[in-house]
Amino acid sequence: MDTQAKIDVKRETAALLEKLGIEPSAYTGGDLASFTPVTGEQIASIKTHSATDAEKIIDKADEAFRKWRLVPAPKRGELVRLLGEELRRFKNELGRLVSIEAGKIPSEGLGEVQEMIDICDFAVGLSRQLYGLTIATERPGHRMMETWHPLGVVGVISAFNFPVAVWSWNAALALVCGNAVVWKPSEKTPLTALACNAIFARAAKRFGDAPEGLSQVLIGDRAIGEVLVDSPKVPLVSATGSTRMGREVGPRLAKRFARSILELGGNNAGIVCPSADLDMALRAIAFGAMGTAGQRCTTLRRLFVHESVYDTLVPRLKKAYASVSVGSPLETSALVGPLIDKAAFDHMQKALKEAAANGGNITGGERVETGHADAYYVKPALVEMPKQVAPVTEETFAPILYVMKYSDFDEALRDHNAVGAGLSSSIFTLNLQEAERFMAADGSDCGIANVNIGTSGAEIGGAFGGEKETGGGRESGSDAWKAYMRRATNTVNYSKALPLAQGVSFDI
Ligand code: NAD
Repeated sequence: MDTQAKIDVKRETAALLEKLGIEPSAYTGGDLASFTPVTGEQIASIKTHSATDAEKIIDKADEAFRKWRLVPAPKRGELVRLLGEELRRFKNELGRLVSIEAGKIPSEGLGEVQEMIDICDFAVGLSRQLYGLTIATERPGHRMMETWHPLGVVGVISAFNFPVAVWSWNAALALVCGNAVVWKPSEKTPLTALACNAIFARAAKRFGDAPEGLSQVLIGDRAIGEVLVDSPKVPLVSATGSTRMGREVGPRLAKRFARSILELGGNNAGIVCPSADLDMALRAIAFGAMGTAGQRCTTLRRLFVHESVYDTLVPRLKKAYASVSVGSPLETSALVGPLIDKAAFDHMQKALKEAAANGGNITGGERVETGHADAYYVKPALVEMPKQVAPVTEETFAPILYVMKYSDFDEALRDHNAVGAGLSSSIFTLNLQEAERFMAADGSDCGIANVNIGTSGAEIGGAFGGEKETGGGRESGSDAWKAYMRRATNTVNYSKALPLAQGVSFDI
């Protein structure tokens, strides 16, 4: 396990930022320290915004919105097309920065940027398809239709674990829908946000006449996020992060009747049925549970395995856990990189202790020493649990997979749904009845229910999000764009009479 980073991460970061045209003054001498989880060292210090700065930024975005909403949607799509081009050009640099700042392995860092490119492509097509319906009216000589209009300034609050993709899911759609964007990235990943901002600035420059302030970044912690949440000039906030954050942000937005797209925590599960293709299940489980060091909202955290295949699958899984490579994503070909910080490591150890106290049998979970005192690498943990009790019912944002044996499908389904979160789920079966039941009204209660595919790694074409404590928001594909626009119903009378709906008469 070679995790000793031998490269100069700080110097490499500076070189990457320079390629993007970011001056050192933007990331040195500031009050917010940026660390790399790869070595635990500080790589930058960025100036944070004050509440007054934030208000000015929002005002500027509001001005930009007022101009941008009048630009025809397909022309707005052209800006997003250029953004996609710039992302293609800087894919390697941005992907590498994601690996440095969030600790993702190279293919996942690049994959995140690919997702940004994909959503740009999607949004460009969408810019010619923001259509409403024409609806049959009950009145003669009338036409009824709906029109979709730009909404205003869209606030985006994002989490550390998808430091760039979440912005693009929101920004690409918001921009073609005619909105301006103000983004408050995680305080743990400000550098990648500066990089996205610089890439957007290149696209805007090529576009030519995009209003100034159309997409801006707010640097700071939750207090600066709160300015965005409370601003009357921000009609929609798309907030991605923990359920704790959603509990604070959701009611504040509701209080001023603003819209929210809440993308919160997950406690995702899989069910392995008797007929499952175990080779396929094994690979899907390994990636879902250990990939991104268990730090995806869609990470597989709970697994229900039928008793008839338990003794075949679980030993194979344990073998995979024992052999998985853990190490520096910058210098090794390890499949599992670091946890984001010490707090994440402490949470993981606390959950493992609790699991052991509740009868859990633990494989893995120990810290992997790398010679970097402030970097936290762990062996992913597989915990066989006698039943679904704490800490299984809560999301611990680390690579812990709780495995439970089941004998009755209905019971497994009931346990599957018996947690607060409702983001992603999967079933491994070749039995049509089980597969269909899992996706039926009384099946999985999650926003994502997959068959013979793991819980993580969604494509942008579908609407992404979950139910219950995951917040209910949907972003990315399908008709998620509707949340970024306001709908007007228009009824036009082209007759010479004024018939009232429902046959009401009111003759004066
Ligand atoms: P976090 O909740 O600590 O922070 C997320 C963001 O919210 C940060 O930018 C933070 O500054 C901001 N924030 C926190 N409290 C706030 C408040 N009161 N007002 C305004 N802003 C506030 O989450 P994290 O540790 O960065 O990310 C991990 C969590 O995010 C996990 O629970 C994970 O499941 C979840 N997540 C969900 C999705 C999804 O799409 N459902 C995607 C990624 C991550």
